[in-house]
Amino acid sequence: MFSPLQILSMAKTKLVLWDIDGTLIRGARSASQAFLAALRTVFALGPELKGMSFAGKTDAQIARELLSNHDVDNGLIDARLDAFHMLYVQEFQQRAAQLHAEIQILPGVQALLQLLQPRTVQALLTGNFEAGARLKLDAAGLSHFFMWECSAFGSDHEQRNQLVPIALERARSLGYAISPANTVVVGDTPFDIACARAGGARAIAVATGSFDHAALAQAEPDALLDNLADLQQVLAALEISSAD
Ligand SMILES: [Mg+2]
Repeated sequence: MFSPLQILSMAKTKLVLWDIDGTLIRGARSASQAFLAALRTVFALGPELKGMSFAGKTDAQIARELLSNHDVDNGLIDARLDAFHMLYVQEFQQRAAQLHAEIQILPGVQALLQLLQPRTVQALLTGNFEAGARLKLDAAGLSHFFMWECSAFGSDHEQRNQLVPIALERARSLGYAISPANTVVVGDTPFDIACARAGGARAIAVATGSFDHAALAQAEPDALLDNLADLQQVLAALEISSAD
């Protein structure tokens, strides 16, 4: 049986799926350092790694692309991906003090999450492995804003475009009557916009990550914001009336 509070909360009909890096926070360099350290150890790579962009990709996808650039074959990647995942989380945990010192919450984010919490189901849609997402948002003091049980992570699927249906299925299994049309993905890269499209959700792009306004505009999001600082502007983009 559901409690009255649960029943009230199930009346929420909008699911907002937040990307993390470049959208809610920035500056988690300890994450990429831990990632590369674990990759070097598990796959016996040398100290020099070829550079590539992490933005908008899932952790397993980044690992696979980077390893492929170093001629590691897919069979070996598949065989050692779980070991890499475990070591990455350990390496990241060991950098907790650094993470606390360097992580920054982007402008408007805290007030916005607070404002939306009673009005929407807020969850995460991120390429991060779940444990990495948890470490970042715990360090930023933002974890409590999200329903982790209806979020979707890079540890759920290597392809970001598969993540909206996973989050929606989880929300439905918790009793929320939410359709793709009432789902919004907020992110800072064209990959976030593409995954919203793939899942039938709306896409809000925010130019606080590594893609500027013009680059995001090319991917044709439903709304494009310079940042999340103007709460009224974000509510309008989310199609939420301030009276809701
Ligand atoms: Mg991002």
